[in-house]
Amino acid sequence: MKKRIIFATGNENKMKEIRMILKDLGLEILSMKEAGVDIDIVEDGMTFEENAEIKARSVARILTNDIVLADDSGLEIDYLDKAPGIYSARFAGEDTSYDIKNRILLDRLEGVPEEERTARFVCAVAAVFPDGTVSTVRKTIEGRIAEESAGDNGFGYDPIFYVPEYGCTTAQMSPEQKNELSHRGKALRAMREILKEKIGGDM
Ligand code: IMP
Repeated sequence: MKKRIIFATGNENKMKEIRMILKDLGLEILSMKEAGVDIDIVEDGMTFEENAEIKARSVARILTNDIVLADDSGLEIDYLDKAPGIYSARFAGEDTSYDIKNRILLDRLEGVPEEERTARFVCAVAAVFPDGTVSTVRKTIEGRIAEESAGDNGFGYDPIFYVPEYGCTTAQMSPEQKNELSHRGKALRAMREILKEKIGGDM
């Protein structure tokens, strides 16, 4: 049977990016829904890696012959002791808009000098293999919290995440440019290399 990769997400934007990055593996890549899995997963880990593994294992328990991937990501702000971190999606309430979440963070950093506004996006990707083993990678993109929101591309905290080397926020980048630099792009490319090795070894 041809090996398949299932990505434990319901997010179509993530699926597009994943399909693009993993296409040269020559494997079928399906979302959880496309694979017929409809479950609620409780992300109760204490790190990005733990949460990615929890998501992947929840699906791997059902699809025992497939390679199951999952990611977990978020924004760490050093001045706020790395908040919102693993709680990024839930920060200030799950249903609160990102306009409001971003406004709250800008207010909390009001008057904080540039050198203390350091922050990073983090992404962990976990792969659970049919033999029960797991591989995890973690990648980041370093930046700073801007003084004001800027840009309409991307999602979430992108309008307040300023990348000094590029002189703009990640919401002012094209999707292609962001994928090149982003925590998720880097983590998925690192995972692609692990998968190549595993598949080469007939996983
Ligand atoms: P999850 O990995 O789907 O659980 O998402 C975590 C949350 O982190 C998202 O809902 C966003 O709030 C934030 N986040 C993760 N990656 C990015 C990004 O590339 N841009 C902006 N926000 C992000």
